[in-house]
Amino acid sequence: MLEACIDQLEQAADRPWQPVPQDLQDRYTIGQSGATGGDLVGRIERDVLPHHGGNIHPRFWGWVQGTGLASDLIAGMAGAVINGNLGGRDHGAVRMERAVIDWTRQKMGMAEGASGVLVTGTSQATVIAFQAARVKVLDGVRHKGQGATRLVAYAGAGVHNATRKAVELLGIGGDNLRMVPLKDGCMDVDALRTMVAEDKAAGALPFLLVGTAGSVDLGLFDDLNALADAAADEGLWLHVDGAFGAWTRIAEAPYRSLSDGIGRAHSIALDFHKWMYVGYDCGMVLISDEAVHRAAFAARPAYLEGADRGLAGGDPWFCDYGIDLSRGNRALKIWCALEMNGEAAFAEAITDNCRMAALMGETVEAQADMALGMVPVSNVCVFTARNDLEPEAQSALNSEIAQSLQESGAAVFSTTRIDGVMMLRAAITNHRTRAADISAAIEEVARLARAG
Ligand SMILES: *Cc1c(COP(=O)(O)O)cnc(C)c1O
Repeated sequence: MLEACIDQLEQAADRPWQPVPQDLQDRYTIGQSGATGGDLVGRIERDVLPHHGGNIHPRFWGWVQGTGLASDLIAGMAGAVINGNLGGRDHGAVRMERAVIDWTRQKMGMAEGASGVLVTGTSQATVIAFQAARVKVLDGVRHKGQGATRLVAYAGAGVHNATRKAVELLGIGGDNLRMVPLKDGCMDVDALRTMVAEDKAAGALPFLLVGTAGSVDLGLFDDLNALADAAADEGLWLHVDGAFGAWTRIAEAPYRSLSDGIGRAHSIALDFHKWMYVGYDCGMVLISDEAVHRAAFAARPAYLEGADRGLAGGDPWFCDYGIDLSRGNRALKIWCALEMNGEAAFAEAITDNCRMAALMGETVEAQADMALGMVPVSNVCVFTARNDLEPEAQSALNSEIAQSLQESGAAVFSTTRIDGVMMLRAAITNHRTRAADISAAIEEVARLARAG
C-alpha cells in the first residue's frame, strides 16, 4: 500500500482526474468479500487511487482546493495507529494541537490570550465564531434563546456562502445579513456606517461585521484595518473569513500586505486544507478572547468531569471550544507539514502561487482575443477565451472549454460570472504548479477557442 501511495504522489502529473466509470459504484460491494489485506490493496489500486478528484495534479486550479502533501502520508500512518480522540483528556496530541494553534495565532498577529480549535474547515469555524459573537452580545442566549432581539450582521457583497449558512443556522436569519457594497474591490466602510445607523434607528442590534481576506470568486481583500476601526467605533465583533487569503500573512511583498490588520479581528476562520496544502479536512477558528470562546461552548455533563491528575486531567479540553466532542487528530498533519518542509517553503509556495496568477494574467493579455475579467490581485485569475463574441456566446464557449479541458486531463479551471459573462477561473493554491504549466494550459485554451 505504501509503495502504491508513493507512486501516486510521484506520478501526480500523469494522473489527472478522469470521468468516473459507469460501473464504479457497483464495484464498491460492501461487507461481502472477506478480502485479505493483499486483496484489498489490489482493489484500492484499481478502484480507489485512479478515481480521485484531480486536485493533486499540477494543472488543477478549479474552485479553491488544496493539493495535499507527502507529509500527509506520514501523519496519516502515525495518526491511524494512535487513533487519537482530541475532544479532551491528557495526551500528547492535545499538546500538539495547542502548539499548532499558538503558532497560527502568532502568524496571524493576534495577541496572546486568544484561543482556537481545529475544525473541519472554514464553514464550521464560521459557525463557532458567530456563536461566540452572539453569546457575547446577548446575555443568557444559550439558555433563553434570542427572543425578539433582531441581531444584524454585515458583510461585503461577494462574501462566501459559509457566512450566510452560519447566520441561518444560528437563528439570526438570512435577511439580517446585510450586504455592504464594494468600492474598488473592498467593503465600502462609509456605506457600512450608514447601514449600521439605519438598523440601530429601526430598533435592531447590529453585532457582527464580517471581513473577507481572499474572496472566493476573485481573490479580493477588504481593508481589514479600516474594518477594525469601524468595528471598534460601532461596537461590532469583527470576524475575518480568511479561508485561504489569511495565509498571505506569511507571503512576501506585495502580497503580505493584503491581509494587514487581520490580527485585530475578534475571530478568524481559516483553512490549512487550501493554501497550506495540508490534506482534507483541516481548518481552524481563532478567537481573540479565550473567556468568551469558552463561555460560548463549555458544558461538562457528569461523565465528562475533569480531574486534577490522570487521563481526565489536562484542562482545558477542546470539546469546550466547539461543536464536536469526539475529534480526530488534525494537528499531526499540520505539524508534519511544517516540520518536514519548514515555514519558509510555505511562504515561498504561497508567494509563487500569486506570481503564477499574475503570469497567467500576462499570458492571457498577450493572446489576441482573450481578455481578463479582472487583473489578478492575489492567486486568482479570471478570463474569457474570446472577448470578440457576444456575452452569451462567450459564456457557452468558456463553459465548453472548461469541460473539455477537464475531460482531456489537460487542466482544471472552474468558472464564475463577471457582469453576466461566464468566465474561466483559476484559483492557484497548488504547490506543484510551474510556469510551464501556465503557458501550456493557456495555449490549450487558445487552441480550443480557435476551434470554436
Ligand atoms: C472555501 C471557503 C470557505 C468555506 O471553507 P470550507 O473549508 O470549504 O468549509 C469560506 N470562505 C472562503 C473565502 C472560502 O474560499
